[in-house]
Amino acid sequence: MKKEFSFDAAFVKNLEDTYKELHRHPELGMNVVWTTQFVRAQAAEMGLAPVELPGLETGAVFVVKGAKPGPVLALRADMDALPIEEAAPVEWKSQNHGVMHACGHDLNTTVMLGVLRHVVEQNWAAKMSGTLKFIFQPAEETLEGAKAMIEAGVLKNPDVDLLLMSHGDPDMHVGEVGVFREFSHANSDEFFIELRGKGGHGARPYQTQDLIVAGSRLVDAMQTIVSRDLDGRETAVLSVCSFNAGSAPNILPGYAKLSGTVRTFKTDVQETVMRRMKEVCDSIAALFHIDVALDYRVGAPSSPIDDRAEGLLRDAARAVLGVENVKELKTRTGGEDFAFYARLKPAGVLRLGVTTPGEARKGSTHSPTFQPDLAALPVGVSVFLRLIEDFLLNR
Ligand SMILES: [Zn+2]
Ligand SMILES: [Zn+2]
Repeated sequence: MKKEFSFDAAFVKNLEDTYKELHRHPELGMNVVWTTQFVRAQAAEMGLAPVELPGLETGAVFVVKGAKPGPVLALRADMDALPIEEAAPVEWKSQNHGVMHACGHDLNTTVMLGVLRHVVEQNWAAKMSGTLKFIFQPAEETLEGAKAMIEAGVLKNPDVDLLLMSHGDPDMHVGEVGVFREFSHANSDEFFIELRGKGGHGARPYQTQDLIVAGSRLVDAMQTIVSRDLDGRETAVLSVCSFNAGSAPNILPGYAKLSGTVRTFKTDVQETVMRRMKEVCDSIAALFHIDVALDYRVGAPSSPIDDRAEGLLRDAARAVLGVENVKELKTRTGGEDFAFYARLKPAGVLRLGVTTPGEARKGSTHSPTFQPDLAALPVGVSVFLRLIEDFLLNR
């Protein structure tokens, strides 16, 4: 691994201590009060005052303005944890019962705090053409934080030109990172379908409206939406994940409930799937003389990746880690509330390898045994510092 930045031991220890403190004090959703204060105290130590966020009690934003004019680059970290009891055998175990930084947002926050500290301590502002905005947001997991930050005006004053984030990834080793093309995450929607009709004796189906047969026909009919209603060059996933009905081998039920998930990337594809699902439900209702109610819930949107943002991340990562350690990642089918920013501003996502080289991962994200290798911290900081050099220093 090339070492573009060699940090002194005190800087690296500070990163590790910061991570451990954050890890010990996980908080949920919008309620990241301790974490917000901790981040603000760190910045205050560097001589930085937070930007006011009207209407928000948590979250913190800091601006470092360069001596010369230039673009505004925003770096976003999420700060919230998950309602999981920690089972990782670490000394810096969660002190909040039933809450754990199991998605590694403590790591994301530490990386961006490290970038901020280096930029401030080395007085990069004096030679920078442009502005850096550091965004520490609450409630990524509940998909509320980005929306709240945007409403509080985080993308304005100064207006953000490019927005980047980093997330720990246990499927890569320390020293490896990944970037995305086109989309980092999918539109993640849920649906619930209720069928109502006349139940009755299993021996006399002609006196009933058989919801088992109707529901089966419905599941079957939905399989042709992706295969027959979408352009073959587009992609989508439609999965029926539950089908609950009935209680005994001789009773035809009067109620059935199905649920499932839809993953798409483009809005027009999402709209086609929604429209066709509604038409399939209505036609099954007409065919079997039953009531079919579709409740389609739009979830986190897909995150479009900007070409320039992706290029900047890839080039900076290659310079620091070597070409072979920068992976091109497939779009993830999970959700990420960074999408709310990425739909408004050109944006890019870096996935930072956190598994000890030569070892298997210690727990997946969202698992009670998730345990990143702290050696990932200076790697993440290095990539973003190199990117800032390329984008704002060497103009
Ligand atoms: Zn998560
Ligand atoms: Zn996460």
